Parts: sequence; C-alpha cells; structure tokens
Amino acid sequence: MQKRIFGKTGLEVSIIGFGAIKLPGISKDEAVKIINRALDLGINYIDTARNYRDSEEKVGEVLKDRRNECYVATKSTARDASGLTKDLETSLRNLQTDKIDVYQLHTVSDGDTYKKVMAQGGALEAAKKAKAQGKVDHIGITIHRDLDTMRAAIKSNEFETLMVAYSPLDQEGVEEEIIPMAKEKNMGVVIMKPLSGGLLCLPEPEREKLGKDPIVVGSLRYVVSNPNVTLAIPGMQRMREVEENVTVGNMPKLTDEEVTELLKSLGSMKKEYRYGQVCLRCGYCQPCPQGVVAPTIFRAVDMYKNYPDNLKHLGIELYSSLEIKADDCVECEQCLEKCPAGINIPVRLKQASELFANI
Ligand code: SF4
Ligand code: SF4
Repeated sequence: MQKRIFGKTGLEVSIIGFGAIKLPGISKDEAVKIINRALDLGINYIDTARNYRDSEEKVGEVLKDRRNECYVATKSTARDASGLTKDLETSLRNLQTDKIDVYQLHTVSDGDTYKKVMAQGGALEAAKKAKAQGKVDHIGITIHRDLDTMRAAIKSNEFETLMVAYSPLDQEGVEEEIIPMAKEKNMGVVIMKPLSGGLLCLPEPEREKLGKDPIVVGSLRYVVSNPNVTLAIPGMQRMREVEENVTVGNMPKLTDEEVTELLKSLGSMKKEYRYGQVCLRCGYCQPCPQGVVAPTIFRAVDMYKNYPDNLKHLGIELYSSLEIKADDCVECEQCLEKCPAGINIPVRLKQASELFANI
C-alpha cells in the first residue's frame, strides 16, 4: 500500500483509507471483520463521523485492540462550541480512544454555516481548545459543492485537511482550482465519494462475472493518480470491496492513455449527472421519521432506469423487498436540507412510487 504525507499534519497515510459511512448497513461482527482486513492489507486511515449512526461504535470495537496501527478521523456537524465539545466527547467514547487524529467540521457547505463555525463561540473555537487539550491532533473541514466556502476555508489557514467529493465525474467541480489550491497551502486532501456514491460501479451480476469491477478500480486509480490528492476514502461494507479497493493502493498512476479510455467509458454517465438529480447515497437524509430509506429507493430507480434490459428486474426486486415504500413519505420535508446533492427527496419519492406502481 502506497503512502503519502497528509499535508501539514505530517502523518503518513495510505492512499486508500477506510470510509466508514456504510458500516450502519452491516452487523457489528461483519464490520469488525472488514475493518480488521483493511488494516491487515495496509490501510492505516479510518474516516467516520458522529452522524454515521453506529459507525463510530463499530470502528471503536477494532480500535480498542489496534489503535496504534491506524489513524482515526471523525467529524461533527455541530456549529457552535458547546455542540462540538459534546460531540467530541461522544466520539472519544464510541471510538474507545483518548485522542482523535483528525477532527473535522462536517458539511460546512454554505456561507452562513461557515460564518457560524468560524465565529466566536463557534465550532472551530471548541475544536482548537480540544487540540490544545490533546484530545485532537489535527483539525480539518469537509465541504460539499460550495466553491466559495472551500476557497475561504483554504485561505483561512485554520484547517490542516480538506475533504471534498471528487471522482472522474468531478460532480462538484473541484478538480481544476480547489484541490490544487489546497495542496498549494500544504493541506492534506481527502477525497470522499471517489466512486460517486456507488454510481461508478458495474451492476453486481456483471461484476461477479468479471471477478472485479474495472470501473471501480479505474475510478479510484484516477482519483489517487491526481498528484494533489493525499488519499481517497471509498465507503466499504463488503469484504470484496475492501480487497478490491486495496489493490488500487499498489497500482501505478494511470497513464494518459488509460485516463482517456476510462473517461470514454464513463462518458455516458458523465452526461447523466446533474446537481439535484443523482443520489450520492451518503445517507445524510436518514433516519426518516416514517422509516423511508430514500437512498435505497433511489438506488432501485437507478437500477431500473440504467441497467440493461436483462437486469432491470434487479431494481424492481430491490424495491419490492422494501417494507416501507416511497408512498409512505408524508412530505414533512425534514430531510430536505440534509441532502448535499440538492435532491428534492419527497418529490423524487413520489416519482419513484409512480414508476414502480406502473411497472
Ligand atoms: S419528506 Fe418524506 S422521506 Fe423526507 S423525512 Fe419526511 S417523510 Fe421522510
Ligand atoms: S437523498 Fe440526498 S441525503 Fe439522501 S442519500 Fe441521497 S444524496 Fe444523500
């Protein structure tokens, strides 16, 4: 597994990190097994968050025995100092550690939120205090879409790491200016959603046939071939995902010819992505008070719409398997502001309900 220096943190991290966002979807035993496997295969960076439901607790089950073999990063969506302090104490308990290596202000994705976290009594103040107390070693920030906020955060010199979403689709437009700018400031650059939240992968039956997923491998290689990127943290919840992702850590950079080939094969997907339309399956809209699992419903819709004719049934079967369906949404709109992809979730659920009702 190749390693790189994580900007001004000075940490030497594996170029593939373990994204723990999907751990709530599997049991504690499964989670412990795949995290252990990831560490055995050379991953030394685990990224979780206070609001990834029970992800931190599952990571903590491994850290209690292997804390000195990896760095752990987590995040808080608190905007004020007292909220962040509370979140940090919970994270330390969940992760069974007395120190977080990289503590990130989570989803600071618009100017108002940025102002709140940076203000006196804001979340950054508490993060700095925690750093002075030795509870946190480094402070980072994660931002979706808002390039102005990214620019401001980079220029502020307050953050040692920046996490942005980036893949060959470059859905949030960070490749040209933001990532090089962060690197220029010697920030560690962490890439979330290097597979565009699962958009960049083959349908499971095709992957099974090939024994690996060339789209996944190519996309991850694309991301870590960018010299301004430190590491990518694909979300993992299966052993084969861990093993497949880790292979990329040992591969050389993509050649120009390979990049052209990859982008050509992704060309059709690239055209399909538009802000407000594609669910990144981040799970931030969860939990819904009605129990509606929007990302799974949107996944079923995508499968039905995008898979070849002989595989469309997989989308229908996924939707049929759900106990709580799209029409159980009561349009309370509580999830709306949580969605970093700008999806009008209740409207899209209604469309999903109509789609599957008419098949
Ligand atoms: S709008 Fe629908 S999906 Fe969103 S939280 Fe309300 S009930 Fe759940
Ligand atoms: S609907 Fe939005 S918040 Fe929910 S999983 Fe998809 S992208 Fe994330």
